[in-house]
Amino acid sequence: MSPDIPSKKTIIIIGSGWAGISAAIHLARKHQAVTLIEAADQLGGRARMVMFGGLPVDNGQHIGLGAYHNLLELFDIIGLRESLVFHRLPLLLNVIGDKTSVSLKAPEIPAPFHLLVACLRAEGLSSTDKAKTLFNWFRLIRPDAHHNMTVTELLRCTNQSERASRFLWAPLCTAALNTHPDKASARLFQRVLKDAFMRKRTDSDLLLPRHNMGHVLPQPALTWLSQHNVSVITQQRVTGLQFIRNKICGVITSHQTLPADQVIVATNAWSTARLITDIPDLKKLHENLQQFKYEPITTVFLKYTRAVMLKPTMQGYAGRLTQWVFDRKITDHPEIIAAVISAEGEHSNMSKDELVRTVINDIRTVSKLSDEPIDSLVIREKRATFSATPEMENLRPANMTAVKGLMLAGDYTQTGYPATLEGAVISGKQAANKILRCHNSIRTVP
Ligand SMILES: Cc1cc2nc3c(=O)[nH]c(=O)nc-3n(C[C@H](O)[C@H](O)[C@H](O)COP(=O)(O)OP(=O)(O)OC[C@H]3O[C@@H](n4cnc5c(N)ncnc54)[C@H](O)[C@@H]3O)c2cc1C
Repeated sequence: MSPDIPSKKTIIIIGSGWAGISAAIHLARKHQAVTLIEAADQLGGRARMVMFGGLPVDNGQHIGLGAYHNLLELFDIIGLRESLVFHRLPLLLNVIGDKTSVSLKAPEIPAPFHLLVACLRAEGLSSTDKAKTLFNWFRLIRPDAHHNMTVTELLRCTNQSERASRFLWAPLCTAALNTHPDKASARLFQRVLKDAFMRKRTDSDLLLPRHNMGHVLPQPALTWLSQHNVSVITQQRVTGLQFIRNKICGVITSHQTLPADQVIVATNAWSTARLITDIPDLKKLHENLQQFKYEPITTVFLKYTRAVMLKPTMQGYAGRLTQWVFDRKITDHPEIIAAVISAEGEHSNMSKDELVRTVINDIRTVSKLSDEPIDSLVIREKRATFSATPEMENLRPANMTAVKGLMLAGDYTQTGYPATLEGAVISGKQAANKILRCHNSIRTVP
C-alpha cells in the first residue's frame, strides 16, 4: 500500500468500508485522481476479516442476496467472477422451532411465481397459513406502508397468519433489517421484499461468501485500485476537514495535511458526526447524526475437532437465543460454526461464557450436534447497523452536504435500503456519480 502524498489536488475518500471502496472504484474507472484514507490497517470496515485460532473468519457472518445488483456490478468492473467469491443458492429457508419447523424452497421458475410455488409447497405451514400468505402477499408489499408503520403493524393489518409471521416474516425482518419487527420500518421491509421477490427469480438467491469478507471485495478491490492509480493510505485517521469559506479544500490526518478539491466522507455515522462537529453549515446534519440509534450483531464462532456437517448449511432457530447458524464449510472451514444473534435481546447482558454455553446448547438441541467445541470466539459489534425504525428514515442524510465539494457515503445515508453491503455500495456509487456529474458540467461550460 502506497503512503504517497498525491502531487496534485485530488478527490479524497475518507473510510474504506464497502461504501468508500465503491466510491473509489466508480471514480477510478472514470480516471479521476483518488486518494482513499483508512484509519484501520485493512480495508473493509464492518465487513472484514478477523483471525480465530489461526484461521481467518469475519467480524460477523455476512450473506448477500441476488438482488444486490450494485455489489455484483462492482465485481464486474474489477473483473472478479461472482462464482469465485459467492456460492449462489436458490432461496432456501429453514426455520426450526421446538414443535414446528418451516421449510421453504424456491423452484427455478420466473418471479413472483417461484415464491408462490415455494409457499404452496412449504413444509410446516398449514393450508390456512399458505392461503393467507398468498392471498395477502400483494397487500403486504403494496402500496407503500404509512411511513410511521412498523413491521409488526404491517403483518397485523395485512392479516398474516401467526405461524407465517413467526417462522417467516419475523426472522426475515430481523435478518434483513437487524431490528425487531416491533420497531422496524414497514416501508424498509417492503423495499427488501419487493427487491428480493418481485423482479427476477435470481434476486431472491442467497449469496454465501466462499471466503472471509476481506477476500470477497476489499482485497481484490485493493489490487484493482492500485492498478488504477488510486493512492490507498491505511493506518491514518482523518482528524479534521479544511475549508476556504464554504468550500472543502483538504483533510488533516494523524500524519499530514492533504489538499483536495472534493471529499467523500465514507465513514460510519458516528465518526462522520465527530468529523463535522462545529462546522456551522453542517449544524443540522450533525444534530441528526447525533440522534442516530444503533443495533448490535453478536456472532459466536465455535471450533470443533472435525467437520460438523450441518444440513442445510444455514439454519434459522425459532424461539431460541441463537437465531441463525452457518456451517463454515462454505468458506472451506467445515470445523467451524458461526452462530448469529441480531439486534438487542437478553444475550446483550450475558457474559461471554454464559453466551457461548447457551449457543452450544441451542445447537445441540436444535441441530442435534453432540460434539463439544474446542474453542470459541465471541464478537459483539455494538453498532453493527443503524436501527431501521420509521423515525430513523427521516434522519438519514443525502449524499450532498451544504458544504461545496463535501459528500457523504455510507450505509446510513439515503439509499432506500437498510444497513447492508448493498446499501453501502449504492451510497458510494451515488456520491461518485454526483462528483462525476459535477466535473462533466464544469467541462461542458463554454
Ligand atoms: C456483524 C455484522 C454482520 C452483518 N451482516 C450483514 C449481512 O449479512 N448482509 C449485509 O448485507 N450486511 C450485513 N452487515 C452490514 C454491513 O456490514 C454494513 O452495512 C457495511 O459493511 C457498512 O459499510 P460502510 O462502508 O457504510 O461503513 P463501514 O464499514 O463502517 O466503513 C467505514 C470505514 O471508515 C473508517 N473510518 C472511520 N473513521 C475514520 C477516520 N476518521 N479516518 C479514516 N477512516 C475512518 C472505518 O475504519 C471503516 O473502515 C453486517 C454488519 C455487521 C457489523
